[in-house]
Amino acid sequence: MVKPIVPVRMDDVVRLKKGHPCGTNAWKVTRVGMDIGLECSGCGRRVMLVRSEFDRRYNGHVSHARGDGYDADHGGSENLS
Ligand SMILES: [Zn+2]
Repeated sequence: MVKPIVPVRMDDVVRLKKGHPCGTNAWKVTRVGMDIGLECSGCGRRVMLVRSEFDRRYNGHVSHARGDGYDADHGGSENLS
């Protein structure tokens, strides 16, 4: 049984199941690969989690990096009615 891999990209901001002791629970993704690099957006502390550990701790996105998953441009300009 394979768990789905959490889709993250550089510069995404994610929540983990446990926030940082500084009181913030928003982590900016600084590296994606075998390990996931995260930077606490409260105090700037950087941590590295192995991919499987990150997937276990992941608890949702706070924001996505520019253009990640939102290809809104495909439909042309917005409809200004
Ligand atoms: Zn922190």
